[in-house]
Amino acid sequence: MCKKIYIIPIFIPEMACPFQCLYCNQQKISGVVQSPNKEEIIDTIELHLGTIPKSAHIELAFFGGNFTGIPLDEQENYLKLVLPYLESKKINGLRLSTRPDYVNIEVLELLKKLKVNTIELGAQSFDEEVLRCSKRGHNTLDIVKAAELINSFDIKLGLQMMIGLPGDTREKAIKTAKKIIELKADNTRIYPTLVIKGTKLEAMFNSGKYKPLSMKEAVNWSASIVEIFEKSSVKVLRVGLHSSKGLLDGSELVAGPFHQSFRELVLSEIWFRKLKNINQSADSITIYVNPKELNHTVGYNSSNKKFLLTKFKDIAFKTDENLSGRNFIITTSYSNFENK
Ligand code: SF4
Repeated sequence: MCKKIYIIPIFIPEMACPFQCLYCNQQKISGVVQSPNKEEIIDTIELHLGTIPKSAHIELAFFGGNFTGIPLDEQENYLKLVLPYLESKKINGLRLSTRPDYVNIEVLELLKKLKVNTIELGAQSFDEEVLRCSKRGHNTLDIVKAAELINSFDIKLGLQMMIGLPGDTREKAIKTAKKIIELKADNTRIYPTLVIKGTKLEAMFNSGKYKPLSMKEAVNWSASIVEIFEKSSVKVLRVGLHSSKGLLDGSELVAGPFHQSFRELVLSEIWFRKLKNINQSADSITIYVNPKELNHTVGYNSSNKKFLLTKFKDIAFKTDENLSGRNFIITTSYSNFENK
């Protein structure tokens, strides 16, 4: 059985970023205002270790900045704080996020030596126009070169993507997902673009030069992208932004498809696509699914159940351990058929 994975997040908001990207305000997204010092990092680690079950797989992650843009000696100082925990196996992995244009052989040699096992690149898009309109400051070749270099060091590669950036389309987002697979990423995160207070995107939005995706579009695009990743070996670690206080209460959010259960909406949509064509001539149906899929089958806020109730008088959902993935069986009072 797979061990549950716990991440101890250390946020270093916009540390070493060459400039603030159009859409980014890490302080407001993460709720962390300042990068922690050495003592604060140790305190955070100890605090988490005190609450996480010892049998779990625990990883520490430096998120929210351009880690490999930090001077090498400072990167070394940060990573050396974690080393004793890795050696004593209290922490099982070390990961960090960074920009594609700040990855080189020298930095990778250091990260490898200090046992970094995953590097997540903010790729965002594999479309030149989207990168240009979003003023990312790097191009698609930078992402490809960095990804290939990370793979050559046998460090796990994460490629994060955003949807709905200026100039983006559904087709471009799908192309990005396919490129992430082609580059042999181990994992990905899918972030719908939000308009956060204090960003350049807010000014664009206010002047009518940027229109965010609607919730429906964001869920729809994400569902198609998750389906593509699920057919590959790329693990989808996150869909939708982490729910910081400012996003939850709306105080830092200007516009855009934020939902604290965004992943559930997406998984419900994937089930909806499977269920919408059920067309049995029956008054009532029962749908059997794997227990892990039950909530998504019923749908967020019972959305799928409500839809099916427009077609049938009665509907029941039951679990069957023998069904895997999104396979399901339907029984009706008139007929039985399997859909596997
Ligand atoms: S590089 Fe990443 S963390 Fe830095 S400003 Fe851009 S999006 Fe934000």
